[in-house]
Amino acid sequence: MIPKTNLEKQLTALSASLPKIKPKVHVWAEKNIFLKWGVLSRSKFYCLECAHVWKPTDPNTCSKFTACTACKAKLKIQSYNHVYFKELEYSAVVQTYGGFQVIRIICSQKHMKKNCAPTYSHSEVMQHWISPEGEVRTLSMSVNVFAHACDAWKLYSSLEIRPKDFSHNAKYRINPYKVYPNAKVLPILKRNGFKASVHSIAPQILFTALLKDSIAETLLKAKQFSLLQYYLGASRQNIKRNWQAVKTVIKNGYLISDITIWEDYIELLQYFEKDLNSALYVCPTSLNEAHDLLVCRKRELRRKKKLQDLRLEIEKAQDRYTSDKKRFFGLVFRQNELSITVIENVRDFMQEGDDLGHCVFTNEYYSRKDSLILSAKVDGQSVETIEISLNHMEILQCRGLKNKPSKHHKIILSLIKKNLYQIRSRIKNKK
Ligand SMILES: [Zn+2]
Repeated sequence: MIPKTNLEKQLTALSASLPKIKPKVHVWAEKNIFLKWGVLSRSKFYCLECAHVWKPTDPNTCSKFTACTACKAKLKIQSYNHVYFKELEYSAVVQTYGGFQVIRIICSQKHMKKNCAPTYSHSEVMQHWISPEGEVRTLSMSVNVFAHACDAWKLYSSLEIRPKDFSHNAKYRINPYKVYPNAKVLPILKRNGFKASVHSIAPQILFTALLKDSIAETLLKAKQFSLLQYYLGASRQNIKRNWQAVKTVIKNGYLISDITIWEDYIELLQYFEKDLNSALYVCPTSLNEAHDLLVCRKRELRRKKKLQDLRLEIEKAQDRYTSDKKRFFGLVFRQNELSITVIENVRDFMQEGDDLGHCVFTNEYYSRKDSLILSAKVDGQSVETIEISLNHMEILQCRGLKNKPSKHHKIILSLIKKNLYQIRSRIKNKK
């Protein structure tokens, strides 16, 4: 893009006058950012570092790593046999220029082939320019937009200033595997806590945060590096939400073993209204144990609450049920060992549903105005539940265990039919 604003023109000019990356940086990258590879092919090892070829002593050998017998490099072994393969890795040079903090991102490629020493190519693909106020603008090469990867650089394009919102682009978040030693930083970054390490955070993200965000500064100064990584990852909101507890962590120099478990645990502490200023709660010796204990306690509490709710619900339903169906209470139809009675308590609906595995309680049959529910029992054991329509004076359902008929089904039906007049008479009496 063509530079338009004064800042864009200034940065484009500064970038043009910035000295080229020195060859010694490339030499350092070749040594430090790549894995060393070997190939196992037709039971021979090929070192892709020094082109040495040798036969393993054990012919069945298939290790992931092996040491080259010539150059002694520890080689990662590929068993498939490409003619050629390459590895791509990023590093960064951190320096100051024209009053700006500059992060220069270098994309290096290592080209490897059997029987050859590796060759390398290096390209400076991005420059992040950060003002002392923490504003960042990026110059970058173009990418092939049709490629699958976001970083298919067009390596012969030039570095161009990118729009302000480039910081939302995936390329902006590319985190160089290593930073070239002896990074030079703006004095204000040192004042805000930067020593030497970027703690595995992309330098452009760490530095802009240190210049603009006091939470990042506080976490770095307190040496809470994993919290800082977490915060600058995708979890700013979580840390902000738990800031009171995080302050307790900082004050006590506590190291969190697993941040997501800890956040879960803090949520539980809040649920139980514990003091988040107290290290006793916020900084447990065994995080997992403390977390699991509260999870159990919460589960138990909820179970009790559910039971209590159920009890209240039954009590309320009982009053209504009694006033609706009281006139049928006491009805009993008997034949031999079989007895059929009107269910009088809502609690007994629950028992009936549990015993026979059906939904007479769950679906609140006790609140159906038109229905009368009876239970058929043999020797005190429920065998079937019967629903009668009071308006039509007929049997709507008569079901046993898991809604299937029992062996007493026919007798139950005939006994009810014989006695429907008793139910009818109780309706009439009321009128
Ligand atoms: Zn070798």
